[in-house]
Amino acid sequence: MRASLLAVALLSLVAAAPVSAQPFSADLTAIREAAKSMPGVLPMRINVVKFAESRRTKNFAIKGAPREPSIQARTAYQVVYPDSSTIMIDSGMDQQVHKFFGRGVEEPYFPEQEQKVERALASAKAIVVTHEHGDHIAGVIRSPAFATLAPKTTITRTQAETLMTAPQMPEIKFTQDQLQRFNVIDYQTVKPFAPGIALIKSSGHTPGSQMIYLVLQSGKEYVFAGDVAWHMDGVREVRGKDAPWITEDEPNMAAELSWLNGLMRNEPNIAIVISHDEDQRLQYIRDRVLGDGFE
Ligand SMILES: [Zn+2]
Repeated sequence: MRASLLAVALLSLVAAAPVSAQPFSADLTAIREAAKSMPGVLPMRINVVKFAESRRTKNFAIKGAPREPSIQARTAYQVVYPDSSTIMIDSGMDQQVHKFFGRGVEEPYFPEQEQKVERALASAKAIVVTHEHGDHIAGVIRSPAFATLAPKTTITRTQAETLMTAPQMPEIKFTQDQLQRFNVIDYQTVKPFAPGIALIKSSGHTPGSQMIYLVLQSGKEYVFAGDVAWHMDGVREVRGKDAPWITEDEPNMAAELSWLNGLMRNEPNIAIVISHDEDQRLQYIRDRVLGDGFE
């Protein structure tokens, strides 16, 4: 009798707990299995292109960091398979969306690099985005080639909902009609995406944010962390951003940063890729973790 009363009490506690009371958690074994569960050969290499920059002092990217100059790279990634087919992670953005991010300040934009992103999107067999912000998805939504890009672009239900109801900027707001052109998926924790690639739900930075795990034929592993941190120091120090213009889910952010910090300490085979960390981008190119430019 006492045991069943306890069970009832526990059940009511669980039922009363709001969803946000269960912050991000991720099981690396399950993620690795998901990535290997799709039939097909594993990818060979990954390339990066930087198409724009924001100049912001480091304290915005890492709370408590000094107000020293820092470059935030805006990047997209190309995953290359042995048959030369490719998958794009993130999609670049046009200059108008870039201007939104400058918030009145003229910042570097590299049209010839953005054209490389556009060509890579056109030839990719699939496109996936880390989250629904303009610097990651505008390259699909606002592209003149939208009609051909959208059907091969996978977005999550949550990303779609944000883009329809509360987009980061009016330029990327989309309609029900546009939504129907995309490949929309819904998943709770981890989802196989392509040979060697799994998606990891991580709704801290935005409701639709996801990290992307990837393993190459060589065995080298990657976690594309999107904007969980804006600089690897945020992961090293388990410290969030301090940017008043963004609103994040704090419990999820804290859990995602500590998970990444654990990977950094315990999984030396995994390269954590921070979308906007220019120092890391240059280091990864030097170390041949990422190829410099698209194929
Ligand atoms: Zn971003």
